[in-house]
Amino acid sequence: RELVGTGQVAEEKALEAALRPKALEDFVGQGTVRAQLSLVLESSRLRGTAADHVLLSGPPGLGKTTLAMIIASEMSAPLRITSGPAIQHAGDLAAILSSLSEGEVLFIDEIHRMSRPAEELLYMAMEDFRVDIIVGKGAGATSIPLELPPFTLVGATTRAGLLPGPLRDRFGFTGHLEYYTTEELEKVLRRSAGMLDMSVTNPGFAEIASRSRGTPRIANRLLRRVRDWALVHGVDTVDQDHASEALNTYEVDSRGLDRLDRAVLEALCTKFGGGPVGLSTLAILVGEETETVETVAEPYLVREGLLARTPRGRIATEAAWRHLGLTPPQTGQE
Ligand code: ATP
Repeated sequence: RELVGTGQVAEEKALEAALRPKALEDFVGQGTVRAQLSLVLESSRLRGTAADHVLLSGPPGLGKTTLAMIIASEMSAPLRITSGPAIQHAGDLAAILSSLSEGEVLFIDEIHRMSRPAEELLYMAMEDFRVDIIVGKGAGATSIPLELPPFTLVGATTRAGLLPGPLRDRFGFTGHLEYYTTEELEKVLRRSAGMLDMSVTNPGFAEIASRSRGTPRIANRLLRRVRDWALVHGVDTVDQDHASEALNTYEVDSRGLDRLDRAVLEALCTKFGGGPVGLSTLAILVGEETETVETVAEPYLVREGLLARTPRGRIATEAAWRHLGLTPPQTGQE
């Protein structure tokens, strides 16, 4: 799904990092989460304690990592970043926890993908700032209690529902990130264009924003692609036509659907007459992981009214047929 070759990946990552807002007040949109989080952080600053544990949920690219970095910087605390898939053994987590300093922010991305034993170790660490380290095996095994300094756990997950209840309940605050409006994305783009020294007209920004699937990461990525296009075509100021032509070249269509989104809809319409089709069959047909289809493509397609989830499987709506330039069948498309 990346629009770049491997040679460009490092530069892309550096640019993405450079475009991250550093303070809560520079973070665009998500008004509710921002206001609530600001209270959580301010009150713990006043009390002089580590902030309560924070769970951030929402589709990829909406700013969970950025918020974790902002939490650490607002608390003037160091930040440690890891991810659920990297913590497969309880020992991996114990090693991280035992090396935390007081007040440190530990960010665990994709926290729902941690192993069960690690998860159980985390319960006690979150609640009592303590872990029991098991030394040895079988009958000779002993557990050594280890006190931990107070720390703040920031967990990120694409869906809070993927987390077991006992883990979810141990977070003092849960923020759900919503897709951004076009106006909010225009603001993100304006800020990024300023940092990239790019000149873009207001309709140009609007065109890029409307194709960005409500996601700042995508908005910033499309902006960089438009920048490449403008450079090659000798365009100084990008207007709406330029933006549109550039993004068409990258197969990002007028509704912001990319190749995977269209592949999902095309598989549904042309191979199954619009569905219903089970998620795993759909994922195999488009050659992607089930989780990618479910967390990356589907939420946006559902939100756009192009795909519906039913107990019998996924179905393409009438709007989906039309968007693909196909004629919807007469029945069964409600
Ligand atoms: P993932 O879960 O896939 O890691 P994420 O939700 O953690 O994604 P980030 O990495 O925080 O997303 O954000 C992606 C990019 O979008 C960053 O480069 C950041 O600059 C930009 N971004 C995200 N949210 C905002 C925002 N509210 N204002 C401005 N820029 C933002």
